[in-house]
Amino acid sequence: MTDRYAVFGHPIAHSLSPDIHAAFGRQEGIAVDYRAIDATPDGFLAALEAFAAEGGRGANVTLPHKEAAFALCTTRTARATRAGSVNTLLRKGDRWHGDTTDGAGLVRDLTDRHGQDLRGRRVLLLGAGGSARSVAPSLLDAGIRELVVVNRTPERADELIDAMGEPGRALSRYWDDLHDLGDFELIVNATSAGRDPSASFKLPLSLVNSMTTAVDLNYGDAAIAFLAWARAAECRNTVDGLGMLVEQAAESFQQWHEVRPDTDAVYAGLRGNHRLTGEE
Ligand code: NDP
Repeated sequence: MTDRYAVFGHPIAHSLSPDIHAAFGRQEGIAVDYRAIDATPDGFLAALEAFAAEGGRGANVTLPHKEAAFALCTTRTARATRAGSVNTLLRKGDRWHGDTTDGAGLVRDLTDRHGQDLRGRRVLLLGAGGSARSVAPSLLDAGIRELVVVNRTPERADELIDAMGEPGRALSRYWDDLHDLGDFELIVNATSAGRDPSASFKLPLSLVNSMTTAVDLNYGDAAIAFLAWARAAECRNTVDGLGMLVEQAAESFQQWHEVRPDTDAVYAGLRGNHRLTGEE
């Protein structure tokens, strides 16, 4: 049976992951069978079982299944355990092994592609969902000075911070108190708020200093609102989630095929079709 790979999500029709994995496969001379599978929360487990029965060897998992994917794994990497979130599944015998590659993908994009030195930075993380949970430990491991997590539902920010186990360096604050938090060298939008076309980000200008980089994990239309705020606030750099998407995919590809693809060519191809919001 041919090995199969897939991304599960809901909705998933516009996912770029099949194109990215196909491009990596061409680059490495590997015939990759990678599809997008739409599964509702109720249907996710059954869809994953059917996929495994048809030769499914690896899968990416995106919104809204990352926590369900974490729960179904028999074994997990240390970083997935710390994040409580899984976006990469590898079939081992009749079980699933889970990893989270979002955080490593973001850090690699920021450091290698955008030349950012994260050490010593004060970082504001907006959001406490699956991607924020993956991003937070990776940022801490990259040597940032302080991580402040703010989420619409404050209890989830508290849970995220508790899971980090670094009370001296990582703390949660209320969204309503954003104007009292001082300024940050890095502001990361890990919310899905921008997926709502009526969304606007009215964040205090006091969050920004002369060094601030603003990163949206989203790209395309979903990144418009946050990055428009970042430009109006005169952030020094603005970065969308396209590079992270390619880097987290490369991390997954490496685990499944045991070779690390070159991401620059694939990123350049996608960037040609997805201008960074605000670019001419
Ligand atoms: P989750 O559904 O797990 O979390 C969503 C987060 O957004 C929660 O913190 C939620 O807050 C917050 N949120 C939703 N709506 C609003 C709103 N109107 N105002 C403020 N906060 C809001 O999603 P993920 O963490 O998996 O993904 C978040 C975003 O990041 C998605 O849009 C996704 O596409 C993108 N992403 C991009 C990746 C990439 O490779 N570029 C990788 C992973 C994700 P609350 O807890 O209160 O509900």
